[in-house]
Parts: sequence; structure tokens; C-alpha cells
Amino acid sequence: MRYYELLQNPDQSFVKEQLNILLADDHPEVLEELRREADQVRQRWVGDAVHVRGIIEFSNYCIRSCHYCGLNRSNTRLQRYRIPPEEIVEIAREAVAMGFKTIVLQSGDDFYYTREMIADIVREIKATGAAVTLSVGERPAEDYRAWREAGADRYLLKFETSDPDLYKQLHPGTSLAIRLRCLRDLRELGYQVGSGFMIGLPGQTGEVLARDLLLLRSLEPEMAGIGPFIPHPATPLSRDPAGDVTLSLKVLALSRLLLPWAHLPATTALSSLEKDGRRLGLTGGANVVMPNITPPKYRRLYEIYPHKAEVKDSPHELYRATLELIRELGREVAGDPGHGLSAEKRSSLYKEESFYDRNQLYQ
Ligand code: SAM
Repeated sequence: MRYYELLQNPDQSFVKEQLNILLADDHPEVLEELRREADQVRQRWVGDAVHVRGIIEFSNYCIRSCHYCGLNRSNTRLQRYRIPPEEIVEIAREAVAMGFKTIVLQSGDDFYYTREMIADIVREIKATGAAVTLSVGERPAEDYRAWREAGADRYLLKFETSDPDLYKQLHPGTSLAIRLRCLRDLRELGYQVGSGFMIGLPGQTGEVLARDLLLLRSLEPEMAGIGPFIPHPATPLSRDPAGDVTLSLKVLALSRLLLPWAHLPATTALSSLEKDGRRLGLTGGANVVMPNITPPKYRRLYEIYPHKAEVKDSPHELYRATLELIRELGREVAGDPGHGLSAEKRSSLYKEESFYDRNQLYQ
């Protein structure tokens, strides 16, 4: 496991140098080798089980003006919706009955849903036995605390880019420092934290991408979402090219090699650019899929980028197709909620590795 060993080196500047070399290298055999190692590391650290998490996109209102996102507040062409709390809970209940073990609640940064409203939704969904992941953006630490106390297990908040200037440019009125403070608050409150970034944002050089990966590792997230940027016509980045699929697959593989413990999804953004994206993600480091269980009448309006995958199929159809793919790949559907690996498990796997006969991995 040549690349895995290189990237596990404790010397940060050495790893950064390696990342720069690997990101600039466009030999297909290097990508194939990275993907092969990422698949082996995935199998050894998080196993063959694929976690299937159902995502409900419950509101497309947003107070922010992120330059890449179709939900940004200046997009007056978008028809906005909010799913009432009782309907959100009902959708979640049906998904749990179908077999989902985790419900992910995502929305624009929409303060219509108060601290108490979201806490109540979390409590009701937790009563079904499912794990709950929230992804509702930047909120005061007191909101995060109330939701954690209501039972929320995890929180997804990508930092999007590690470059403070690029961050400021893309997110008017806010800063990378605020984003990182939210991530710290979430960590201190005991959430399993998910973060990540986009690939191919305009202004993102190879050097920035290497720093994105290193920032991600330094946060030690339990989960990481890494997918290509896709331009949306009603945003300031409408004329910029989409992130590259091959580069996205490379960065996903590198993420697995840097964060062997993490739960990594095969992202919807990847599937939106490449019809085989989910399969390619799952065979190159990913161990999570997140079928969209938002009712189709709302789903088509959650247009963070155009031509999003999975806009039409019913939750049942998506769930069935997901299970089929997992079986086709010779993997299994996880029977547990897929929490983050415990500190003990992580340290024992690391310890074993220093005694590991790495040559055996190639047999
Ligand atoms: N409001 C919450 C937040 O900001 O974290 C959650 C919703 S936000 C729409 C979810 C994710 O969508 C963001 O973290 C971002 O990475 C992704 N996203 C938005 N616009 C995108 C685009 N044009 N291409 C790819 N991903 C995009």
C-alpha cells in the first residue's frame, strides 16, 4: 500500500508535497492504483457494509448568498417550499419502516424553523429508533445544543474551501473562521461531525485542493462529503465549468487514504455528472449512499445545481435501486446505524497497521 503509507506519514509538509504531486499527476494508472488502495483501506477500516441514509430536503429557503448554490437568496426564479414539521416526521417514519437506519434532515439556512421546532422534529424521529443527522447550516451554539439534547446524533457542515479569501469571495457576509467555529461547537457538543468541500470551484488551484484535504484531516471528522462543483444558471458562477469527474474520484480516493476511519458517501453531485457515479464512488473509497426520500413534488425544487440525480423516482424505487446496486457490487447493506468508529477501534486498527505485513494486501 504505497500511497496509503506515504499519506499516513506524520510529517504534514511531506504529506502536502505528496498530495501536490498526486493531484497534478494525470496518468490513469496512478488514479487506478489510488482507487484500488482506497478500496482496500475502506474494506479493512469500515468493512463491506454500505450505510444507506435517507435524506429529506425539507426547505429550500435560505438567508445566505453562496455564489455556487441555486438556493441562494437572490435567486428569485426559484419557487420556494417548506415541508411542515408533521409531514417531515411522517416521511421519516415511512422511510424507517422501509428499512432506513439514519434520517438526514437538510435545508437551506432557514430560520423559520426555530430551535424548538427542529428539536421537536428530532425527538419524534428519534422515537422511531433511527439515527438523526442534521444539515441545516450555521446556527448559534445554543441551537446545536438543544438539538443534541433532543437526540440528534450527527451534523453535516462542509467548510467548502480551506482558502479564507476564496471562502469570503464565495460566501458574502461570512467567513471561513465562522464556519470552523461552528464545526468546533458541534464537536464540543458531542456530535459526530461531517464536513467536506467541493472539487472544481473557480479559483481552486491544486495547492488549495491539497490544503482542503489537510484541513479535512485535521478536523478528524466522522464523515466527509466530497463532490464536484456543478454550475447553476441563476448564480454568479453560472459560466464556470463543472468540477472534473476524474479529479473528483481521485480526491475521494485520497480522502479515504488520509481518513481511513471516516464514513464517505458516493455523492449525488458525482452521480449528477456521471451516470455511473455511485458505483464508481463505492468502488473507490466510499461506504455510504444517501438516497433522496423527499417527496418528488418538493424534490425538484431543491435545486442546488441543475439536473440533480434522483429527481423523479419515488423513495421506494430509489431504495430498491440502491439495494440492488449494493448487492451487484458484492457488498452488503449495513444492518446498524453506521455511527462513527470508536476511538478504541481507531487506535487498535492503527496499532495493528504498524505490525501489518503490507505485502499481503496485494495477494
Ligand atoms: N444550508 C446547509 C449548509 O450550507 O450546510 C445545507 C444545505 S447546502 C445546499 C448543502 C451542500 O450543497 C453544501 O454544503 C454545498 O457543498 C452543496 N452545494 C451547493 N451548491 C452546489 C453546487 N452548485 N455544486 C455542488 N454542490 C453544491
